[in-house]
Amino acid sequence: MLNLATPEIKFAIDAVQQASALVKQVQAEMVSSALVKNDRSPVTVADFAAQALVGQLLSENFPNDPLVGEEDSAILQTPAQKDTLEKITYFVDRFAEGVAPESVCRWIDRGAAESAPRFWTLDPIDGTKGFLRGNQYAVAFALIVAGKVQIGVLGCPNLKSLSPTGDDHGNGVLVAAARGQGAWVTFLGSEPAFQQLHVSKRTNPAQARLLRSFESAHTNVTNIDRLADALSIEAEPVRMDSQAKYAVLAAGKGEIYLRMLSPSRPNYREKIWDQAAGSLVTEEAGGRVTDLDGKPLDFTAGRTLANNRGVCASNGYLHASALAAIRAIKA
Ligand code: AMP
Ligand code: MG
Repeated sequence: MLNLATPEIKFAIDAVQQASALVKQVQAEMVSSALVKNDRSPVTVADFAAQALVGQLLSENFPNDPLVGEEDSAILQTPAQKDTLEKITYFVDRFAEGVAPESVCRWIDRGAAESAPRFWTLDPIDGTKGFLRGNQYAVAFALIVAGKVQIGVLGCPNLKSLSPTGDDHGNGVLVAAARGQGAWVTFLGSEPAFQQLHVSKRTNPAQARLLRSFESAHTNVTNIDRLADALSIEAEPVRMDSQAKYAVLAAGKGEIYLRMLSPSRPNYREKIWDQAAGSLVTEEAGGRVTDLDGKPLDFTAGRTLANNRGVCASNGYLHASALAAIRAIKA
């Protein structure tokens, strides 16, 4: 069971609950009512507001802990973005005390820290494109100590029930893992009632359900297709944005999730906030997470996984087959 009396675990869950509630409000009030089409402002407002809120909560709860976050406030301090900063301030004000444009920028910029022996990492909205489409996205928050993820929490407002009992509150789910304590799911917007997650027991590669990105530019679609052929996969893939894929893998509703280097960006290195929380969730549900060469993910290398190439996550049973197929197709 998750030890909810541990201050860091309780804090991480509470921060993701609040940040998820905040981004849902931005989405409801700025996207659906205003019919914004190509305007990206709901995204920026939600990203920045969620990072500001988590930065503020961290200052209150663990003032000495660094935060490595995706966003920074530089652009918000330009005259052209005055309106955006005001909108962000308006939303953060619903969740915190003493909110002003200056404090919002300061809280966002807590996320500019370097990685350290102990630090937190945040993707305030992972899967921005999914957020805009009204599909999957995740608030992803993790605590890393000595290069190992110790706590990982994902808020997935558009993900339905993952629990074995299948009940659904219609509010999305929160998935939390702590090293050695398993991976658990509860609902966003209600008191925690955790149910444990376990990866699937499928061992036949032909039955492996691949978890795939919605956006083809984020990975190497050709190589994932070749890998599916190499494994003779017959099962239908599951397509969705964001680290929600790690949660689905943890819940046994998919078996293999790959981040292959996209041909347009062969030197791309994964950002730590895109992998930290999700990778622990999958591992604690019984799965395995390595890079494409089978090496453990190394969270000591700064803001990216500079020492790793891509990611290979699986239910564990299929990991060796997946890595062998990656080698065979020279991906
Ligand atoms: P997904 O929703 O799984 O398709 O991936 C979303 C994540 O992909 C975002 O958080 C980005 O940080 C990341 N991303 C953006 N461009 C690339 C790229 N060229 N290769 C790999 N990941 C990327
Ligand atoms: Mg992201």
